[in-house]
Amino acid sequence: MTKVIHSIDEMKKIIKELKKDNKKIGFVPTMGYLHEGHESLIKCSTSENDITVVSIFVNPIQFGKSEDLDRYPRDLERDRQICEKNGVDYIFNPSYEEMYPEGYKTYVEVEEITKNLCGAFREGHFRGVTTVVTKLFNIINPDNAYFGKKDFQQLKVIQQMVKDLNMDVNVIGCPLIREKDGLALSSRNKYLSKEERESALSLSKSLFLAKQLFESGETDPQTIKKKMEELILSYPLVREIQYIEIVDSETLKPKEKVEKGDTIALAVYVGNTRLIDNIQL
Ligand code: AMP
Repeated sequence: MTKVIHSIDEMKKIIKELKKDNKKIGFVPTMGYLHEGHESLIKCSTSENDITVVSIFVNPIQFGKSEDLDRYPRDLERDRQICEKNGVDYIFNPSYEEMYPEGYKTYVEVEEITKNLCGAFREGHFRGVTTVVTKLFNIINPDNAYFGKKDFQQLKVIQQMVKDLNMDVNVIGCPLIREKDGLALSSRNKYLSKEERESALSLSKSLFLAKQLFESGETDPQTIKKKMEELILSYPLVREIQYIEIVDSETLKPKEKVEKGDTIALAVYVGNTRLIDNIQL
């Protein structure tokens, strides 16, 4: 039976008892509206730990002013059923006031690798992410924490933070889950109309094309990016390509010559919905 906990004190008390019993705790942080991408993280956690905690918290401080905080999809009962089905022990679902009470003043910031890719277009986003994840780690005190490679830059930023701040948690990156036709699963896919969903396939299609080009010998990033751009813009409901970058998977620095192991990441607006995707070569 999955228990839903709203209070930080109560969650900490439960964790303290579990730790007394030497239970290994797996943690999956999410913003809810769970899909098979989240489920795959949960499955990793339940198979590798005694107890799995999933947090569901739409973290306002990681959204920009003109972003989709207010319309972000939420459905706790639906999420609870998905957690139940997957053997989750606890959902941690605090309110905004619980996490950021009046007088809140502390933020965590990772430098450099938060400045390009999504960081260049979402000011303060990663500061919001690292702050909330630090708070959640302090509350849940997990042995293992699971993050999806769908948010490739986020995973790198969390790994860097955990290393730099000597946090006692093992960060595990899990594979990016796609629909059969290639679309990367995302809670934001709910925003897409049928026609927009068709155009949203441009992201994964362009990444698969890039991989093919690389595998047949192309190593010039500009050539690969140009061909990706052409493919994406051939879809009618693509409003804007925010970025396409080919970066070193560790440093996140742009590459002058593409090599095996590099990551191609992109952000594209389909209608009003901003979608991201990536592939590692
Ligand atoms: P979110 O609820 O979107 O903040 O995502 C919570 C976690 O699920 C993050 O670690 C994401 O990277 C991960 N996630 C989201 N979508 C996918 C996906 N399609 N495949 C794998 N992991 C995902």
